[in-house]
Amino acid sequence: MKKVYSFGDGKAEGNAHDKNILGGKGANLAEMVNIGIPVPPGFTISTDICNYFLKKKSYPNSLLLNVDNAINKVEKIMKQKFNDIKNPLLMSVRSGARQSMPGMMDTVLNIGLTTETIPGFIDKTGNERFVYDVYRRLITMYADVVMEKANDIEPIDGIGIREKLELLIESVKRKNQLKSDSELSTNQLKDLCEKFKLEIKKSLGENFPDDGGVQLWGAISAVFKSWNGKRAKTYRKIEGIPNHWGTAVNVQAMVFGNMGKNSATGVAFTRNPATGENSFFGEWLPNAQGEDVVAGIRTPNPLNNQTRNIINENTLEDYMPTIYKQLYKIQNQLELHYNDMQDIEFTIQNNKLWMLQTRTGKRNGSAAIRMAIDMMEEGLIDEKTAILRVDADQLNEVMHPMIDLKLENEADPIAKGLPAGPGGASGQIVFSADEAEKLHKNGKKVILVRNETSPEDIHGMYASAAILTARGGMTSHAALVARGWGKCCIVGCSEIQISIENHEFRVNNMVIKKGDWITLNGSSGNVYKGKIPLKSINLESNKYFQKLMKLADKYSRLGIRTNADSPSDAKQAKSFGAKGIGLCRTEHMFFNPERISAMRKMIIAKDENARRVAIMQLLPFQRKDFYEILKTMSPFPVTIRLLDPPLHEFLPQENKQIKKLASELSVDFDSLKEKINQLHELNPMLGHRGCRLGISFSEITEMQARAIFEATAKLVKENISPLPEIMVPLIATSSEFNHQKKIIDNIARLVQKEFNIKFKYLVGTMIELPRACTIADKIAETAQFFSFGTNDLTQTTFGFSRDDIGGFLMNYLEQNILIHDPFQSIDQEGVGSLVSMGTKKGRKINKNLKIGICGEHGGDPDSISFFDKTGLDYVSCSPYRVPIARLASAQAAIKNKKND
Ligand code: PEP
Ligand code: MG
Repeated sequence: MKKVYSFGDGKAEGNAHDKNILGGKGANLAEMVNIGIPVPPGFTISTDICNYFLKKKSYPNSLLLNVDNAINKVEKIMKQKFNDIKNPLLMSVRSGARQSMPGMMDTVLNIGLTTETIPGFIDKTGNERFVYDVYRRLITMYADVVMEKANDIEPIDGIGIREKLELLIESVKRKNQLKSDSELSTNQLKDLCEKFKLEIKKSLGENFPDDGGVQLWGAISAVFKSWNGKRAKTYRKIEGIPNHWGTAVNVQAMVFGNMGKNSATGVAFTRNPATGENSFFGEWLPNAQGEDVVAGIRTPNPLNNQTRNIINENTLEDYMPTIYKQLYKIQNQLELHYNDMQDIEFTIQNNKLWMLQTRTGKRNGSAAIRMAIDMMEEGLIDEKTAILRVDADQLNEVMHPMIDLKLENEADPIAKGLPAGPGGASGQIVFSADEAEKLHKNGKKVILVRNETSPEDIHGMYASAAILTARGGMTSHAALVARGWGKCCIVGCSEIQISIENHEFRVNNMVIKKGDWITLNGSSGNVYKGKIPLKSINLESNKYFQKLMKLADKYSRLGIRTNADSPSDAKQAKSFGAKGIGLCRTEHMFFNPERISAMRKMIIAKDENARRVAIMQLLPFQRKDFYEILKTMSPFPVTIRLLDPPLHEFLPQENKQIKKLASELSVDFDSLKEKINQLHELNPMLGHRGCRLGISFSEITEMQARAIFEATAKLVKENISPLPEIMVPLIATSSEFNHQKKIIDNIARLVQKEFNIKFKYLVGTMIELPRACTIADKIAETAQFFSFGTNDLTQTTFGFSRDDIGGFLMNYLEQNILIHDPFQSIDQEGVGSLVSMGTKKGRKINKNLKIGICGEHGGDPDSISFFDKTGLDYVSCSPYRVPIARLASAQAAIKNKKND
């Protein structure tokens, strides 16, 4: 097994395909070297070694020798020597997993500076101040990453070593009235380095190592360990990254962007990651070291004149025109090479450009859509690739609400920052990630306000509706993370002054306290006091979205329907492209005051006659509902499910309400209470519900069938083409289904006769019990369609109550007993095999049997892929997931065909 892969000087031992062993960063560094791009030489230690080390707490014997050999190669290319007194080579150690996890793991720069190598380095660079600046950064990073975090040291006083060292710098700056770090003199820096070492010894009980080798191996081990750090674990859980992947470690010769005015560092994207526009976009800082841009400590400048916001901003294009041209050429080369938008990092050391990283750039939903369509139209990618480029869930973002523009124009912004994550959001402000998470759990909408965010804040950022930071640029941590999630975010809002101690921020003469509402427009960068209502965006005018949807429909095999039980939902879903209703839950129609009273009368009726009288009061309501829905969806089919939930759900439970109902219905309290008690069930989910209701009280089925058919007849008379499909719920035996079908067909005959008209309709069933799957062939003898109710099917297959799984799901996920919530994404192995069985058995009897799915899984991309493979005809999901399902279905068709 090869453990260490070298790269540099035009030759690399790996390439872009080796992400599994080299991690994304390592594989792309190798690839850049292979295509002739200037990259500081180095080597990658494979992800296998990470897993070995985390398991055995040691390294394989030969690793030391492999690393020594790899260092020799770097030394030859750089003409420097690691640990050399006269001409020392310094190294960086960076993490890099298969999939990028921005800021979640650790980095140590400037390794190899010791009291012995410092004089030689000063001689070489001729810049003592620079050397001590580099040294103090090494000490800080090393103490934080290697000595504290990797050793799991929790600071006793709550203040970590990095913060302690930064406080020392602050006190020197305060004493000498200096504004920024760059004003610190050589002697002040020198002095600080000594103070740092004393503080480290005092706080961590160990000396900062004065040996390059110790530093290097300390850093390598710390990076491996950071794979199991809290931040990385949280991120993996959110992003669904498997724990066994491990990270690679990249060791590279240091190049310095902080060597003076001919040096700089920056981060860029080959296209704008927030809008998708095809323009080179990025940020840079003169005389700064790598992490300064991302950490948000200084607000960086725009790279080029085309993308600057303010006319006098210092662009790299103006400041270093030749280097800018070279960078521009390289970014073009990289995008053409990878056929995708790249996120790149570079450093300029004494007028020489070095590329430190390239990776596929994260982008928000609207940018992803635009890039996919643009690149397809530019001929860079084909149609199928364009479809696969957009993560189906990202469509959520373009369907996100924006601030109502009219109301926004009437309000005055209290501050303005950089628009890092589009869309609008209102929320109550908090100043810590823990607080954000806590309030979110209590159902509050929060906006996290920070000077800058760090990877430690990840849980709170996730819980927040939006993020606002006082510092940082468009590539700062907050901006990157928010963009990845499609969250509203404003960064670099320097007008606000945050006081963490007082739980407030000040802006102009205003004080905004914890818990106060603010509203952000993440597309313009404006911050408003109070709540401004949000408005959903007009997808019809988004030409990129429309083109993508049209393209998706071209490749999709599955039909997409919606679950809707009101005309307005049906209309919304139709506008999103739903071709029919896959589930109309009729019980939702009974909850308004007029209807519930008739329903309750029906439930407490003493005999069939009284029940019929009561239920007939519901007929006109239901007829009107079905008329509207069938009309809205015409000419597409509408699957209407007969009443499903246990009857007690319609009755009041508290004495006060029971008393009120008793007087409304003129019955006495005790008998009403007794009736309600009788209806109470220990396991209502497995009780008197579904088709069991229609079997016990056939008048319910009769009334509902009549309402549907009368509405249908009326529409046919009006020359509209309704297509009702009546669905019997919770079938376990074919005789249950046949019992109900007979009633429905009979009513259809009667209504057709009464209206003297013929209409089309289907009678089918939900398949939502395991038994129904096993005898699906029998049911298919009479059923005209199946619709898998995967919510109940998951519940009854696992035996997990769909309402109570929250009590133990977390434990199951944490211990990897389940890898995801089976109510969200279909359990392919178990529940899925029942779906396959039901489909096969049903189609054996009736090869044209129409089969769909209407459980929550109908809107989940992974489940959709499974349903495509299983050969269903359609999926049905909530209106706002229809576009997601359209795209996911096209992606599934493309991928599943490829895998055939
Ligand atoms: C189902 O069980 O999957 C279903 C769609 O029905 P409901 O969620 O209404 O039980
Ligand atoms: Mg169900």
